[in-house]
Amino acid sequence: HPEKWCEEFNHFISQCLIKDFEKRPSVTHLLDHPFIKGVHGKLLFLQKQLAKVLQDQKHLNPVVKTRHERMHTKRPYHVQDAEKYCLEDDLVNMEVLDEDTIIHQLQKRYVDLLIYTYVGDILIALNPFQNLSIYSPQFSRLYHGVKRASNPPHIFASADAAYQCMVTFSKDQCIVISGESGSGKTESAHLIVQHLTFLGKADNQTLREKILQVNSLVEAFGNACTAINDNSSRFGKYLEMMFTPTGAVMGARISEYLLEKSRVIKQAAGEKNFHIFYYIYAGLYHQKKLSEFRLPEEKPPRYIADDTGRVMHDITSKESYRRQFEAIQHCFRIIGFTDKEVHSVYRILAGILNIGNIEFAAISSQHQTDKSEVPNAEALENAALVLCISPQELQEALTSHCVVTRGETIIRANTVDRASDVRDAMSKALYGRLFSWIVNRINTLLQPDKNICTADDGMNVGILDIFGFENFQRNSFEQLCINIANEQIQYYFNQHVFALEQMEYQNEGIDATPVEYEDNRPLLDMFLQKPLGLLALLDEESRFPQATDQTLVDKFEDNLRCKYFWRPKGMELCFGIQHYAGKVLYDASGVLEKNRDTLPADVVVILRASENQLLQQLFSIPLTKTGNLAQTRARITAASRSLPPHFSSGRLKVDTLEVIRHPEETTNMKGQTMASYFRYSLMDLLSKMVVGQPHFVRCIKPNDDREALKFSTDKVRAQLRSTGILETVSIRQQGYSHRILFEEFVKRYYYLAFRAHQTPLASKESCIAILEKSRVDHWLLGKTKVFLKYYHVEQLNLLLREVI
Ligand code: ADP
Ligand code: MG
Repeated sequence: HPEKWCEEFNHFISQCLIKDFEKRPSVTHLLDHPFIKGVHGKLLFLQKQLAKVLQDQKHLNPVVKTRHERMHTKRPYHVQDAEKYCLEDDLVNMEVLDEDTIIHQLQKRYVDLLIYTYVGDILIALNPFQNLSIYSPQFSRLYHGVKRASNPPHIFASADAAYQCMVTFSKDQCIVISGESGSGKTESAHLIVQHLTFLGKADNQTLREKILQVNSLVEAFGNACTAINDNSSRFGKYLEMMFTPTGAVMGARISEYLLEKSRVIKQAAGEKNFHIFYYIYAGLYHQKKLSEFRLPEEKPPRYIADDTGRVMHDITSKESYRRQFEAIQHCFRIIGFTDKEVHSVYRILAGILNIGNIEFAAISSQHQTDKSEVPNAEALENAALVLCISPQELQEALTSHCVVTRGETIIRANTVDRASDVRDAMSKALYGRLFSWIVNRINTLLQPDKNICTADDGMNVGILDIFGFENFQRNSFEQLCINIANEQIQYYFNQHVFALEQMEYQNEGIDATPVEYEDNRPLLDMFLQKPLGLLALLDEESRFPQATDQTLVDKFEDNLRCKYFWRPKGMELCFGIQHYAGKVLYDASGVLEKNRDTLPADVVVILRASENQLLQQLFSIPLTKTGNLAQTRARITAASRSLPPHFSSGRLKVDTLEVIRHPEETTNMKGQTMASYFRYSLMDLLSKMVVGQPHFVRCIKPNDDREALKFSTDKVRAQLRSTGILETVSIRQQGYSHRILFEEFVKRYYYLAFRAHQTPLASKESCIAILEKSRVDHWLLGKTKVFLKYYHVEQLNLLLREVI
């Protein structure tokens, strides 16, 4: 007697609701559910759902403690209020869509601690600058596989959408997190990984644990305290989580981009070196092992001391550093590094700190005044000892260099400046290669078990957390690279959200008013074009031994004649760029040297001869990612095949396609400059991104003071403007973010209108039959595709789950 059952259930649910279920959205949601009105057998499903809800309920703390919890539990779920709040959850549903209304809306939500807001399928995340209790496993369960409107917007919902798309369409996904430094990208990336590990229910507990440790480990080595963010990512990270065809997590892989190596040797005022140096120093101090690693106890290593030398005291007395050191040791162990490997890593880190302490002084002789010597032999010996290399050879490599002229090798002395440069280049190379090695090792340890499934059979969700747009008092080569990368990501966003979508309407014969947006393609061309783009000019200038930073800026000025580039008066070594996110003034001093990034051959030779196996290994492989080259090329070729045809047309070409046209360029890694390495990494990244279906998370920093609940309207306005959020709202309001080929649509959903034995044609008519039968409204049909809103797909998927 299904009706009776239903009645009882309805009654039961109402009772529950009245008592204490107001805050459980899935219950209110169930009331409307077709199950409840219908079929007997499926009531079992409902029972299960309820059991789950009841169980969740037990876990939840019944006492509503904070204002925030109140917001997140009670308010949005009041049945009578539901509609009202749903409208606010998605900016697309607002009637008035001007900038002020949107900002006001975000502000109202922010002070209520509703930090997430949708713009259609795009998530806006405002940094709360305080810990919220909305990321527990209960919340993961809450957001699992339910209609998006059932719950307030959440980062878990975005992760869930990517996962569901991956499983439903058997297609790779890509979550792009963008926003300026300190806006919350890295935190968001963590939360996404957390939810995906929950969804990808690894039977294998250890794998899950390993994946969760990966971020902490790479961030200890790749993040640092900057003026803006205490845990600022100083590298770009693309983390791919790999799943079996049924959606179980089976492995992970990280790609790192552009580690800011120069931070090892020098940091801007008020900033720090990479976290790991402080952790290891404090950790070893407490374990009384500083002397084993030849680290001085009485005076701070130069690389981690501030000008006053105070840091030493700070480091050793700081409880958190010591705890972090233990945490890192734990991470290494869980992920599967051997004790020997970890020991070698520490030795190399200690080696770098000791190298930093080596000083140089000029020796004046009768003939020459530009020789140098090492006045503090102890530092040199310490460095050589922990790195297992010969101190004499190290000294020679630092204070002299070989010149080959007409077949003869002559040894020349290094000036103090030159010797210091070699020392610093050595530290940077050591750290850069160590970092790449750790990342590669993690990838090996986390690769899928071939007995379960090979990576080729599986699917993945990639999460891009790249350093945000930066505009400091002084901006150098690092900021230039970071900002170009952000420019590229913005372009990718524009492509997907505006250009591709509008072109698709045109191609499919659908009438839609084009939405104006700021196309940053000309600016990207200015950077990346050959032979007259900024990076190409930089490379060209780097090849001339006589070139100076001054000639470089002159060259830029002569060749980059466009509105995005200017030279401020009275600042010889500066140039300005009008980025999508604002004007930035760059200081060119040192840029040529940074771009050349040379490491003298004899330094490589002595490091390669080290008795430390890891060190040997680091310097036996070429610095660049040549290892991945074949893979990258294959991926790019595959990507170009799966891209819509107009992607490769002149106007919409992505830079990855340039690689196909100039494959020889990337194979020539000898004498590679930072600029060409950067260009290569950017292409490598894009080649990964373009194969996946993108999901966007736009992080916004509500104020510059890192204060909770403080919403600076101007600050937010600037970010909304530069990232084109307003335009995004309009296009998402009109737009159909899912555009599915008739064939694919019929294959996927034919159960909704046809019987199992029927084989409907992959035609427009079959699609209409399915859509009508499913009672989906306001869809559109083009010439070859069905145009759906994200909630249509949700609705269809839910129906499908009921039928199958
Ligand atoms: P980004 O990677 O964009 O530079 P982070 O993710 O490192 O920024 O965030 C900067 C800081 O903001 C974090 O260290 C944290 O204190 C805070 N933060 C960001 N997102 C959240 C969040 N969802 N909940 C709590 N604090 C957050
Ligand atoms: Mg970050």
